[in-house]
Order: sequence, then structure tokens, then C-alpha cells
Amino acid sequence: MKFCNQCATPLAYGVPPDDNMPRFHCPACLVVHYENPRIITCTLPIWQQQILLCKRAIEPQLGLWTLPGGFMENGETVAEGALRETWEEARSRPTIRQLLAIVDLPQYHQVHMFYLADMPNADCAPTSESSEVALFHPHEIPWDHLAFRTVRAALEHYVEHRDKGPGLPLLETRITPR
Ligand SMILES: [Zn+2]
Repeated sequence: MKFCNQCATPLAYGVPPDDNMPRFHCPACLVVHYENPRIITCTLPIWQQQILLCKRAIEPQLGLWTLPGGFMENGETVAEGALRETWEEARSRPTIRQLLAIVDLPQYHQVHMFYLADMPNADCAPTSESSEVALFHPHEIPWDHLAFRTVRAALEHYVEHRDKGPGLPLLETRITPR
């Protein structure tokens, strides 16, 4: 961020008056430009004991497997965002069963949320974001080829608790840089 989006003055970086954190702010119109964590919203879609995974067709982590998900958009709920991303990345329309995991990544300024979701059928297909989309039984999960540690955490939690139902406990965890 270099310029004020209100008046185009070059921004200053420092603690604004009456604040306690350094932030970008405008020395001309005094607007403070807050930067807050972003929410990444995902599903863990299930069809007959199998988990839907997507092989990434885009960077980062091109060619590795992930759960469908992405950045939440303005104007939608977290769950709606997860379902939208699931359609965009895997052409599946599951229904939300429950919130499964909240993973904080404070150093990356992100929060990842995973919903357990039930697929109405096995329909799914590759997209511009996923070169391959497939269903995996828990013992078939490609653990050595997963794209993200958040996805690993959600999958491990699901596999560990899936038979203890009916409801699964909510995983609340954080991931820090290695
Ligand atoms: Zn300004």
C-alpha cells in the first residue's frame, strides 16, 4: 500500500494518534488504512466414506492435493463461501453438515475454516483451478502430496474422529512458520 485510496497522498506508516499499533495512515486526510486477517473458507466433502480432494492446477503448490476452498468474498457467509469455492474448484454441490476446524495462522494474517459437507452424489469434475478431482478413502489420502498444513490438520482431525460420531468435535488450532 503506497497511496491513500481516498485522496492519493503517499501514505505514512506508524502508530496513528489514539492507536497502539503501527498502521498505514494518510497524513493529509487522516484516514487509517487498517489491515486485518483474511478468511479462507473450505469444505471437506464426503461421499460414501470417501473424501473429495483437488489437485491444484495453479500456484502456489501446483500439482499437490488440497480440499476445495479459497478467500471469502464480501456479501457471503463463511459457509456460502465454502460451497461456492467447492463448486468453482471441484464442480460439486455438497450440503454443510458442521463446522469441523478453525485454523489460525497469525503470522500469515489468515484464518482457515473447514466445513464437513455431504455430497448428494459422486459428481465432481476438474476445473481451471483443479487439474484432477477425485474421491479418496481415508487410507488412500496422499499424505505426502498435500498442498497445505491447514488441509493436513483438517484431514487428520476428520480421520481420527469420523467413526466416533454422530457429531465431530471442533478442531481449534494454530499453525506457525516452521
Ligand atoms: Zn488521504
